Order: sequence, then C-alpha cells, then structure tokens
Amino acid sequence: MTIPVSTDVSAVSRVPVSLGERSYEIVIGDDLLSQAGTYLKPILRSSRVAILTDENVAPLHLERLTKSLGEVGIDHISIILPAGESSKSLATYEKVMDQLLEAKIQRDEALIALGGGVIGDLTGFAASTLRRGIDFIQIPTTLLSQVDSSVGGKTGINAPQGKNLIGAFYQPKLVLADVGLLSSLPKRELLAGYAEVVKYGLLGDFDFFGWLEANGPAIIQGDITARIKAVEKSVKAKAAIVAQDEREGGVRALLNLGHTFGHALEAETGYGPYLNHGEAVAIGIIMAAELSVKMGLLSGQEGNRIHSHFQSVGLPQKVPNIVGLSWQSDRLLDHMRQDKKVSAGKLTFILLKAIGNAFTTQDVAVPDVLDVLTIELSSAN
Ligand code: NAD
Ligand code: MG
Repeated sequence: MTIPVSTDVSAVSRVPVSLGERSYEIVIGDDLLSQAGTYLKPILRSSRVAILTDENVAPLHLERLTKSLGEVGIDHISIILPAGESSKSLATYEKVMDQLLEAKIQRDEALIALGGGVIGDLTGFAASTLRRGIDFIQIPTTLLSQVDSSVGGKTGINAPQGKNLIGAFYQPKLVLADVGLLSSLPKRELLAGYAEVVKYGLLGDFDFFGWLEANGPAIIQGDITARIKAVEKSVKAKAAIVAQDEREGGVRALLNLGHTFGHALEAETGYGPYLNHGEAVAIGIIMAAELSVKMGLLSGQEGNRIHSHFQSVGLPQKVPNIVGLSWQSDRLLDHMRQDKKVSAGKLTFILLKAIGNAFTTQDVAVPDVLDVLTIELSSAN
C-alpha cells in the first residue's frame, strides 16, 4: 500500500501553546482557509458555528471559509461587522450577543473569528461570555493578528474610558494562520504587523533579527515561504512567553517593547488615522533603543543596525508631521504616566542591553526620557 504524501505538508508549520488543559495549536501555512473544515472538524464539538468577520474581509475571504466548512458538513451563520476599531465597542458587543442568542448558538457550538485583531478580540470576548463561555477559533487575516493578537488569549473591547478595559483572558481552541490571506492586506497594515515581528527579534532572538535583516524586504514584498517562517518564529516567541506567564505577571511584559512610548504617541494622536498601532510601536521601539543607547546599555552600533533595518523595510522611525499638532515631550510623558503599566507612580520601560536582549526596568531617569523624546520629536517627518 502506498501512503499518500501531500506535496505541501512541509509548508505547514504547527506551533503548540502549552497551557495545560487550555493548550492549543497554531497552524501556519498557505491557503489554509480552503482546508479550514478539515482542520476544524476534529476540534469542534458540534456541527454548527457562528463566523464573525468585517466588511472588508467578508467579500475577499468569507466564501472560501463557508465552502470549506460545508464540505465537511459544518453549518454556519455569519455576522459581518463594520471594519475598524469602532467595532470593539460595548454597542457592537451587545448587537453580536443579541444575534448569537437569536440564532440559538448553543454551548457546544463555536465562534470563528475571521479578521484582524479587532474581530479576534471582540469574538474572543463574546465567546468568553456567551452562555458562560463557548469555544472559539481564530483565523487571523492581518499580519498583526497572525503574529500577535490571535495568540495568548487576551480578548476584549474598548470602553469610553480607554482601550481594552473590558475583557477576559480566554484562549482559542485553534489558530489557523493562513499567510495567503495577507496578499490582500494594504501595505500600511502589513508594515504595522511587521513592527511586532521585528519586536520579537529585538527582545529575545538575535539570530531571528539577523534573519529579518536578510529577509525583511522579501517578507514585505510577498514571499510566501519567508512569511510562513516570520509568522512561525513570531508565534513561537510569543507562545513561549505566554506559556511562562499567561496573565502578565512578569516576563510577558517584555512583549511591550516599544509600547510605553508607542501608546503615548497613539494617545497624543487620538488613535486617529495619522498613526496606527504598529507605526506607533515602530517609532516607540526606536525611542526605546535611543533611550537604551543614551543610558549606556546598548551600543550605538547596534542602535544604528536597528535604524538601518527599519529603513530597509520601510518602517517609520520618526513621528509624522500632523497639522494642528505640536509634538511636545512633556505631553508624551504625561500620557506615559496614565499608562496601565505604571505601578506605584513609577514608569516601566522595556529597554535593550543588546539586539535580542531586552529587560524590564523602572530605573530610568525622567530627564533622560525627556531628552530622548525632545531629540526624536524635533525631527518629525
Ligand atoms: P484590524 O482588525 O482593524 O484590521 C486592519 C484593517 O485591515 C481593517 O480595515 C480590516 O478590515 C482590514 N483587513 C483585515 N484583514 C484583511 C485582509 N486579509 N485583506 C484586506 N484587508 C484586511 O486591525 P489589526 O491591526 O489586525 O488589529 C488591531 C487590534 O488588535 C487592536 O484593537 C488591538 O487592540 C488589538 N490587539 C490585540 C492584542 C491581543 O493580545 N489580544 C494584541 C495586539 C493588538
Ligand atoms: Mg502591540
């Protein structure tokens, strides 16, 4: 008897997330969406699911998913939400819960998130609360959601008081990261996700950073093999950190490299169209690197290497010029002081001792922070 050998099996990579009985797998490959039914069938406890997606993703990718589910006898309902951060709201959550209950989605049925981080966070939170918790599956469609938000179980929505303030730690049953879906992603969104990819190299993996230096432009241009490897390395890094520290008591904080500065930039620009999260993180990483150099932790040479890599892939390094906004270091410092990572009035920074070696510290002099901000803001694009 000959054993059938699938020709593309080597292209599929599986990364386990080890969290005891909440463990699950991240499957990474090309065109997984067309085979979603095959991947989901063994995971699902019944033969009906509710798919949540957005108005941009639905016309591009929803049909392939529903066809594949149909092929293995899984029924579905679809809920298509407006695209964008505004869907991570209490109002949308209420509408979604209403539709799920109207459709009589039962406890043994499941939700599928087909979309970026907005859909993933909202769906995960809906799943965590519907009938006290039903299964959910992530099919992330942006680079950011494939390398970051779909992994680790943080789910939630925004409150008028701030981002992600209502939510739960709730792990999916499976993550299907189909890098083929990224071919329809706008370049700006792709780069936003790449900022998080490079973050993993910088915070803990010197070799991965070196690999990104060689392969970053190919990843941006659409090389499928390079994209699979970049997603695989990224989720392995995140999964390893989450397995050690699911609820962010310690090492998980390293994932915030670039985020203390980045969140301040986002807050100052009002989470508007001028600066998206990944762009803010990219500039925030540069600021964290500059602060590390200023404090004598990171060599200037390594600092320059980071700048060169950002340049080679097209990641932003400077804040944009925005009409009506005058960048001021003390205003950014104020935003940092509002950050949820502030404890006992002390700012927490993730800094670099070297490329691939980040650490958390509260031992930072405010004048140094202000100096770095002043220099970085003075040369707005
Ligand atoms: P997003 O979900 O808004 O997607 C970005 C844009 O791309 C949207 O307009 C979307 O419609 C569109 N899009 C998605 N997939 C597409 C595709 N394949 N082709 C074409 N267009 C596509 O944003 P995002 O950047 O994916 O996620 C951001 C959200 O993720 C934020 O709300 C953030 O708070 C959250 N987040 C969560 C975590 C976590 O751990 N849970 C981590 C990081 C970020
Ligand atoms: Mg982030």
